[in-house]
Amino acid sequence: MHDHTICVQHPEAPMAGYASLTTPTHRASTIVFDSAAAYAARKDRGPDGYTYGLSGTPTTKVLERQISDLHRGSHTVIVPSGQAAIAMIMLAVLKPGDRVLIPDTVYPPTRALCRNYLAARRIDHVVYDPVGPIEDLLDSRTRLVWIESPGSTTMEVQDVAAIVQACHARNILVGCDNTWATPLLFKPLLHGVDFAVEALTKYIGGHSDLLLGSITVRDKDHFALLRETMSTLGIGVSPDECSLALRGIETMAVRLRHVGAVAQRFAERLSDPQAGYTVLHPALPGAAGHEIWKRDFEGASGVFSVAFPVQAATRLDEALQGLALFAIGASWGGTRSLLAPMSVENDRHFGSYGKSLLLRVSIGLEDEAELWLELQRVVSLLDSSAE
Ligand SMILES: *Cc1c(COP(=O)(O)O)cnc(C)c1O
Repeated sequence: MHDHTICVQHPEAPMAGYASLTTPTHRASTIVFDSAAAYAARKDRGPDGYTYGLSGTPTTKVLERQISDLHRGSHTVIVPSGQAAIAMIMLAVLKPGDRVLIPDTVYPPTRALCRNYLAARRIDHVVYDPVGPIEDLLDSRTRLVWIESPGSTTMEVQDVAAIVQACHARNILVGCDNTWATPLLFKPLLHGVDFAVEALTKYIGGHSDLLLGSITVRDKDHFALLRETMSTLGIGVSPDECSLALRGIETMAVRLRHVGAVAQRFAERLSDPQAGYTVLHPALPGAAGHEIWKRDFEGASGVFSVAFPVQAATRLDEALQGLALFAIGASWGGTRSLLAPMSVENDRHFGSYGKSLLLRVSIGLEDEAELWLELQRVVSLLDSSAE
């Protein structure tokens, strides 16, 4: 063979005797076929077959299968981010004239998707009280009800079974953003939800170094619809990102158990009826949806919030200065502990945190005693009742 040809045709390495515990990273755009007939019939391979790199390689499929198994679902698709997972469902399911319901406590970019993008395409949305009844809001236009439990930042736990029952009686689909719980602590599909979303960016990735999302379904037609929407929109993911997620998922159970226990101990220790703040954690008696959390969840993950009166904002710079352990930033679920000061969307209609300074806490893998000292210092600096 000419050198030029040798350059582009890699020889095969012997596989005999090679065995490893890892999943190879298969990169591909082109998928090759044995014959002209096989190529012509490639669509017969269905939504789960290999036809083009956009719909995934064996690396993607391993991650998809693993997440399906954790969720007890039939199929999963991997998309470039958690937000892409939410958008993909809404774009696949909703048509002009349809309506989607979103909880008031939804991840803010989900609300922005409805308000800024879907509304302009004649898909309207209604914001509902995450802990109130929804029957009266369901009409003939309603196609999808979105759940996020616990709610972003304010942590209200929703009654998923009750929402599913009301929706399915009217042929309305239900999607659930399950990022806080991960499939280890809550499995939405087992409670009847049609689409379970994870931001793999958080606990599954686990190291603050990747962006991915997943959608898991029970129904083959929903899977086909999602695959078709993804290829139409040109949405695929890199096997390298999937490979990082496959590494992260191996340690998720021990990471989550650790950060969940530490976060719950911190939430309990910080709770003090005399204090001028409120700790928002679903494991605390009196938390919105606490009884449902006990009924439905296997435990808590490592994220909770502390709500201070809005005047505490004047002390924020001082309180968050010179932190040695906690980093300041969004996203969470990595090895590093994070603090994120937030004010909830000022268009929230329900709940009483509209005029609060919320400090979102994400617990990482640093030493518990050291973390406690720093967190306690931040909270007492923000607490006006301590003056
Ligand atoms: C982070 C997050 C998302 C979005 O995930 P990205 O991968 O960052 O796009 C969606 N929902 C919830 C609840 C999140 O916390």
